[in-house]
Amino acid sequence: MSHIQNKPGLKILEIASAWKSILTGSAPIMSIEVTRECPLSCPGCYAYGDMHLGGSVNLRSLSDYRGSELVDGIVHLVQQHRPLHVSLVGGEPLVRHRELSRVLPILSGMNIHTMVVTSAVIPIPLEWMEIPRVRVTVSVDGLPEHHDVRRKPATYDRILKNIAGSQVNIHGTITRPMLERPGYIEEYISFWNSRPEVVRIWISLYTPQVDERAPEILSPAQRELLAAELPPLRARYPKLLANQGISDAIRVPPSEPDRCTFARMSTNYSADLVTRVEPCIFGGKPDCAQCGCAISSGLHWLKDIRLGGLIKMENIARTSIAVGSFVGRLRRGYRPHARWKPPSARLVNIDSANPPSDRVA
Ligand code: SF4
Ligand code: SF4
Repeated sequence: MSHIQNKPGLKILEIASAWKSILTGSAPIMSIEVTRECPLSCPGCYAYGDMHLGGSVNLRSLSDYRGSELVDGIVHLVQQHRPLHVSLVGGEPLVRHRELSRVLPILSGMNIHTMVVTSAVIPIPLEWMEIPRVRVTVSVDGLPEHHDVRRKPATYDRILKNIAGSQVNIHGTITRPMLERPGYIEEYISFWNSRPEVVRIWISLYTPQVDERAPEILSPAQRELLAAELPPLRARYPKLLANQGISDAIRVPPSEPDRCTFARMSTNYSADLVTRVEPCIFGGKPDCAQCGCAISSGLHWLKDIRLGGLIKMENIARTSIAVGSFVGRLRRGYRPHARWKPPSARLVNIDSANPPSDRVA
């Protein structure tokens, strides 16, 4: 599954829009589990984990919507939260492709970037390729020797058939067995880099829950190996999204959700369009110390970049969140973000000399 997107480099205008969202009390990233249905049953799927929605309910037992109710419900949520980027995930969102064919042009018309994350077990509607600000991302977890077993019936053969004529991103979640053969990752990236349908490739590492003991979990040595391998691969395979900063973030992920830029900048809803997925898209109690989420790594790296060489992005984000928390409360029906503390606890000085990790969260 791995329902997240990365973009190949934020443009100044997008950073400005994200900043505006925060200042007005909205997290700029949103994900919606548009359905509880999925024809796959992948081992290690977090969406169907018992704790994904906190334990009292799970995705399969949640009510979900179809038809106009789903279309209107998604649009209403987006209007309420005013994000910059929306990921439509599942379950398998393509089981609601008719509804999404109505939703995507509406969101595009609102200047929102939308990503549909799919297993491509169902053909991707080609008309989606013509909608501005829409991207489809296909989850491909390793080479056929692993992927076809884990994600049957969304096998390589079926994916290649269902993405024919499309332009898609590929997202792979790397698991422990894949790193047992030298050269595996390069083979995987080389295959997808050569496909004409593929625009970008991004890589996540399997992210376990706290105390999970799954065979998918990477060893510390494997994590280090992958972090070292990705930047040189980027030089040979230009569709791969990777750089040294992201590798550094893979080595040292955020220590907890309150220190995770992705968790603080995103709002995630499940299929009843009411239940929040907390603290991040994984739900439950994710083991941040072993996080391998591509977008979390990307944002973790970005937070240390200094704008104009002076002020860290993290400091700007903290101050903006403080302002946004205050402004948001002036809005009717505003639901504060779980990791946006009240302004009094949040206001900080903009001081480029002191690292934000040393300050009050
Ligand atoms: S396709 Fe995604 S939602 Fe469906 S079982 Fe696999 S990981 Fe879970
Ligand atoms: S660091 Fe933690 S909160 Fe952030 S995305 Fe990873 S698991 Fe979720």
